[in-house]
Amino acid sequence: MLTIAISKGRIYEEALPFLAEAGIIPTDNPETCRKLILDTTRDDVKLIIIRATDVPTFVEYGAADLGITGKDVLLEHGTENLYEPLDLNIARCRLMTAAHQDAPPLTGRFRVATKYVNITERYFASLGMQADIIKLYGSMELAPLVGLADCIVDLVETGNTLKANHLEPRELIMHISSRLVVNKAAMKMKNTAIVTLIKQFEHTLHTRNS
Ligand code: AMP
Repeated sequence: MLTIAISKGRIYEEALPFLAEAGIIPTDNPETCRKLILDTTRDDVKLIIIRATDVPTFVEYGAADLGITGKDVLLEHGTENLYEPLDLNIARCRLMTAAHQDAPPLTGRFRVATKYVNITERYFASLGMQADIIKLYGSMELAPLVGLADCIVDLVETGNTLKANHLEPRELIMHISSRLVVNKAAMKMKNTAIVTLIKQFEHTLHTRNS
């Protein structure tokens, strides 16, 4: 049995063609059913539907053999206890700093609101800049508007969310896409099944790129 951890929404939708290539088609739609464990057309594969930020935890502890989640989540969590064999090149976006359209460039000591505390700390430290980081769980865009922070660090795709809140993207921290991660023990114990799956995912990637 193989268990794959994945989050609902964009990553799930964009991962479906990869799963289909391996003969894995979920028998329920997680958007409309409340099941957290989904059967698939393969008797030996189940999907578990969890928050993107929980995917590394489930895979690390072996509650799932494999997982699909964003590089942002993996960097924030740390990946030393996981294998990350494949960039699926889906759910692409950019991790950026952003500030109010009228805000001056950051100097001296300033406040940054983000849910990416570790990445943000490392980023500003690498620039030798003094950032006080405020952890938020959502609606980061609000923070500069109400004086909570001077800037934010968040994912940007089209930039429309920033624009709608009178913010603008400033510095690119990194390009983000979703990755396949594998539990280290499962990679040994279920090697044939996992390696086959990775090859099938790779095949989907190559046919897309050609
Ligand atoms: P946009 O308005 O298109 O720039 O999208 C920005 C909003 O979508 C922000 O709230 C982001 O946190 C979220 N977002 C953008 N891309 C992704 C992604 N690949 N995964 C998760 N959230 C994303």
